[in-house]
This record gives sequence, C-alpha cells and structure tokens, in this order.
Amino acid sequence: MKTALVTGGAGFLGSHLTDRLVREGFRVVVLDNLATGSWSNLAHLSSQVVTRIEWDVIQPIPMERLPRQIDVVVHLASPASPVHYRRLALETLWVNSRGTGNALDVARAYGARFVLGSTSETYGDPMLSPQKESYWGNVNPVGLRSCYDESKRFGEALTMECMRQFDLDVVILRFFNCYGPRMQAEDGRVVPNFILQALRKEKMTVYGDGRQTRSFCYVSDEVDAIHRAMTMSGLKGQVINVGNPEERTIMEFAQIVAEVAEVECKIEVKPLPTDDPTNRCPDIQKARTLLGWEPVVPLRQGLHETAAFFREKFNL
Ligand code: UDP
Repeated sequence: MKTALVTGGAGFLGSHLTDRLVREGFRVVVLDNLATGSWSNLAHLSSQVVTRIEWDVIQPIPMERLPRQIDVVVHLASPASPVHYRRLALETLWVNSRGTGNALDVARAYGARFVLGSTSETYGDPMLSPQKESYWGNVNPVGLRSCYDESKRFGEALTMECMRQFDLDVVILRFFNCYGPRMQAEDGRVVPNFILQALRKEKMTVYGDGRQTRSFCYVSDEVDAIHRAMTMSGLKGQVINVGNPEERTIMEFAQIVAEVAEVECKIEVKPLPTDDPTNRCPDIQKARTLLGWEPVVPLRQGLHETAAFFREKFNL
C-alpha cells in the first residue's frame, strides 16, 4: 500500500484528491491547519486509511507523527482565493515559502516524490495567450496579489533548487481556476459567487467590464492530473499546466451560470479589483504529452454538479 502526504488535504482540492487516492488504494496522511479547509470535507473517510494531523506547515513538520513510509508528498496547503489570501496575506507568503521548504524536507527525508500545487498566477497578467510553461510571466511583485503570486513563484524556485541540490524527484503543476463541489461560499471567487447569486435570484456581480477571461477546470479533471503526476514515471523537474483550455469572458460565464441555474441573467457591475489579470488560458500540450491527460468534463456539466452541491448545502 502506497502512502501519500497531502498538505492542505482538508481543503476543497485536497479533499477531492484524498477521496481519489483512497479509491486508488493509497493510505493518506493529511496535514491541515484548517485556515480555509475543514475536517468535514473528509468526514466520510475512515481514519484507518486517512490520518488527520492538524498542523500549520509554516512550522517544521513533526516527523514523529508521520508513518514510517511516505512515497509521495503533495503540497497544496495555501489560501487560494483572492479574498482569502488578502485576509491571510502573511500566512500565504509563509506557507508558500517556509511551508514549501518544510514539505520538501519531508520528501527529502523519505526519498519521496514531491508534487507542488502551483498556479496560473505565476504568469500574473499574461502578455501571451494561451500561456505555455516556458512563459516567465508578468507579475506585479509589490501589488495586492503578490502575497500569492510571488510566494508561489518562490515555492517553484525552491522546489527546483531542491531537485538540483538534493536530486529530489519533483513535479510542479500550475492549476488554472479549478471549481466544483466543496468550494466555500464565502471565498469570494467567481464560481461560488455567481452560482449562489443565480440560485438566490440575485444580480450577478461582474467586476469591471466583464471582458477579462478565465478558463475553468472541473475538480475531478484536475485531481486526475494530480494523480497522474504522483504516479507516472519520467516527470522529474517538469512544470506542467493543468487546466481547461476553454476560455470564457466573465460576462459570458455569468450567462452560462444563469442558464444552468435556469434563471434570467441579471448583472450588477462592481469595480475591478487591483491587478485582476485580463486573461488566462492554459496551453496544455505538455499535460497531453507527459501525463496523457486532458480535461473531459464540459463546463455546463461541471456547473450543474457544483450548483447541486450549493442547492443542497443552502436549501435553495
Ligand atoms: N469576479 C467577478 N465577480 C465576482 C467574483 C469574481 O466578476 O463576484 C471576476 C474577478 O474579477 C476575476 C474573475 O472573476 O476577473 C475570476 O476571479 P476569481 O476570484 O474567481 O479568481 P482569480 O482567477 O482572479 O484568481
């Protein structure tokens, strides 16, 4: 039986990954400080296969509480929505720098593969579309998003340096706007905001002129890419975009959400947040070639699943 350590495993993405790993026969150790995650996301999983450790990975990880064997470390711990990472700006800087170092130390101690959950935010407001992994990005190093963007970039640099210095087996995945059930209603991201506003028959809050674009990837697709990055060979040192290349303007996205929720699309325009990227679309050629992966869940289907989750949760 293989053992995986998942930092941030009680969060939205981490809990879906843990579900999948349990189905694949892994034993999973979840480390989470519950800043944005919750054990309730893992409540359905037995403690025989999932060990829960409440811990802030900014602190050195207590090796004495870990099992004898760890085959792969997946570092996902970090606030990920603009609202959360602004609220937890220093914690975000530290978890993606010191926290990444601590997670790398575990991988090194166990000779485990290290998979870094990185982000399309490393490209900042990109001057190229679609974004390839070879693009260095256009990031404001001192702006309001820099606590996330720059610390993720630092985490990538640290990961690559540990590969060079200690011969660690590392893979970096850059996620593009993942969505699905278990997202938090209050995290302020466009998917929960629009879905809840539509289900409550409220106006949908479009920031700016709505011409900025995003590419949304359903969580089961994203988890499938992570699982491949954890288990396939020949990936050492690779940086791979993980996202759905179907790009939408935010205005178009509002209309699609209204259609899925079967309500009239009513819009309220609000100011565009500072440094909000104008576009985001992954080039996924590397994921196709190296992981044999591409997303399979269509946007409307993923939104149906996500809306069903919020309907049930809030009795809508
Ligand atoms: N956005 C919006 N209305 C909302 C929330 C977000 O128009 O209620 C926009 C936001 O300005 C951005 C895009 O939707 O252009 C995606 O925002 P989100 O916070 O989901 O994630 P980001 O991709 O910016 O990290």
